[in-house]
Amino acid sequence: MEKDEKFKVASDDWIETYPLMERIISTKEVLWINPRYALFDDAIKKTSIGPQHVTEAEDRLARFAPYIAKVFPETKPTNGLIESLLVRIPKMQHELENMFGQQTSGELFLKCDNDLPISGSVKARGGIYAVLKHAEDLAIQRNMLRLGDDYSVMEGNTFRDFFSQYTISVGSTGNLGLSIGMIGAKLGFRVTVHMSADAKQWKKDLLRSKGVTVVEYAADYNKAVEEGRKQSSTNPNSYFIDDENSKELFLGYAVAAYRLKRQLDDMHIMVDESHPLFVYLPCGVGGAPGGVSFGLKLIFQDNVHCFFAEPTHSPAMMVGLMTGLHDKVSVRDFGIDNVTDADGLAVGRPSGFVAKILENLVSGAYTLSDSKLYVLLTTLALSENIYLEPSALAGLPGIIRLFNDAPAQTYLEKHKLIGKMKDAAHIAWATGGSMVPKEIMQDYYEKGLGLLLARRV
Ligand SMILES: *Cc1c(COP(=O)(O)O)cnc(C)c1O
Repeated sequence: MEKDEKFKVASDDWIETYPLMERIISTKEVLWINPRYALFDDAIKKTSIGPQHVTEAEDRLARFAPYIAKVFPETKPTNGLIESLLVRIPKMQHELENMFGQQTSGELFLKCDNDLPISGSVKARGGIYAVLKHAEDLAIQRNMLRLGDDYSVMEGNTFRDFFSQYTISVGSTGNLGLSIGMIGAKLGFRVTVHMSADAKQWKKDLLRSKGVTVVEYAADYNKAVEEGRKQSSTNPNSYFIDDENSKELFLGYAVAAYRLKRQLDDMHIMVDESHPLFVYLPCGVGGAPGGVSFGLKLIFQDNVHCFFAEPTHSPAMMVGLMTGLHDKVSVRDFGIDNVTDADGLAVGRPSGFVAKILENLVSGAYTLSDSKLYVLLTTLALSENIYLEPSALAGLPGIIRLFNDAPAQTYLEKHKLIGKMKDAAHIAWATGGSMVPKEIMQDYYEKGLGLLLARRV
């Protein structure tokens, strides 16, 4: 049989088992409800990570706060915590309703991780946490540090000289490399970032300016990770932060939920049986949206509903969860090309570690086209004066999809949520943007504007 023919047979089989696969394979937008979604008490019994791990991570970040505040003065206002605002975006909610011709109820918020200090993306949570954990482990092992110490001592040359014997490496589409590079270089580590072909030039330039070694690959993200992992394994002093399989990254992201809980309380936004919370998170390999969702489920349990958002050309987590094959399957196995402008989401194969933990906890996932990301980028800029990078827009149409797509309505009915929707809160997780150079952001904006105008005529 010819290769194409073989693929056709295989894909017919998939479509028979999973009817939604036909639209996924033809890169049309879909919304998928997770049939394995379970009540929290049942789902949590099966996970290898629990609340104690997230609390430990939170405590670790608190220990490092004095150091962070000292070396990254932009974190002074939050006393060394790397945190972002939660804001209401009523104008954008209105624009979305107009754009898609769909009414919504409840209030729409944006979680502004695009503004996170140090590296301007959600990766400032997981990536920085993973490096800090490693630094603490090394320093404690060598009796240079005790848990009760003031960690700002790490600013000095003693620690920088010590860490300079060690390498940290990572494979990245850009933003993870940026986070790990920024904090790694600051602590004194040698840092090597293995960048996939889709990583933006300005991210590579910025990292090199900090003394980070950037290795470029012509292949995609999963390949960059594989190469990085291989090279790191030959050096005993090298620590590889494995985005496809990292408990530390996951825990760093999960802490966001505990912080969000406090923000919601401060803003008097209720989340309980009669006030459901819906969260829409851009998803690449799954660590960031998975970690955040996991933390949110620990806190709000059955009252929070988490949806992952992926590009139509990179629905890695969706096919992984749908087939139950997790990281055993890549979008390329279905003839999907994994080509998208959403560089943080350009992932063909999801993290097996994350898929396993989230398989019963995530409510569903949806895909959207690249052109929509640009249209949303410009619309958000015009309505709320907030500028995100393309990937980070993926969560915004979640609220529309919830009210518009039939499977989502069935989900709401099943979970007796229809009558509660007027009291719902919806959070779109904005995952990046503030580091994008002005002229590049201007190009994005104009691209979106062009598309927007073409739609109107
Ligand atoms: C990395 C990234 C994501 C997704 O995070 P994963 O852990 O890869 O799922 C979303 N948005 C942006 C801007 C990112 O850089």
